[in-house]
Amino acid sequence: MLAGALVRDELPFWPFGLATHADSCEARGQAMSSPQLPSTPYKLPPWVASVVRPGDIIASERERVRVAIQLAREHVERGTGGPFGAVVCERESGAVVSVGVNLVVQTRMSSAHAEQVAWTLAQRALETYDLGGAGLPRMALYTSSQMCVSCWGGLFWTGLSRVVSATTGDDVERIVGFDEGPIPEDWAARLEGRGIEVERELLRDEACAVLRRYVELGGEVYNSGKR
Ligand SMILES: [Zn+2]
Repeated sequence: MLAGALVRDELPFWPFGLATHADSCEARGQAMSSPQLPSTPYKLPPWVASVVRPGDIIASERERVRVAIQLAREHVERGTGGPFGAVVCERESGAVVSVGVNLVVQTRMSSAHAEQVAWTLAQRALETYDLGGAGLPRMALYTSSQMCVSCWGGLFWTGLSRVVSATTGDDVERIVGFDEGPIPEDWAARLEGRGIEVERELLRDEACAVLRRYVELGGEVYNSGKR
């Protein structure tokens, strides 16, 4: 059981209706019983369920990135957080394992970037720190923007084997003014060197439009160390 792990109603951070997914998991022959998960400080906004749910199948990588962008867009339009979204999927089946949106302001945690929220929820749901562990299908991260230095660094330890992003880091800094940190020029090559595939600038314009909308709506630029 993988994506199905997230459908359980005891998950405090996944405030979704569950019957549909219980049904779909049953149809896929997945077991529904599993131990209770510990709590997490991450709590996704309830509207997320209207965009994507665990167990959904998203066939193409382009559409997986589009869902990440859609999460970012809804997050901005609804005023629930920063302009970033991410999705963790099983690479081959396209099954959604978990999702994330930026929760820095809501949680008061500088690490609560959409990417880190998404992979943390996947790890908690599957009860493993290694999403690349034995017996698991390969998983990938789809994100509305290129990772900042914090997410880039963290990705090495997740077990994810591929990352696909929409905007560049420069887009994020130039359009919104977020500090993406001192990410090295060869950040992608360094991931590839550790067996993590990278694809960039898929649906970049769509994701940049979300960044511009965040600015237009006066979204908070939550950089640290600004006095
Ligand atoms: Zn980040």
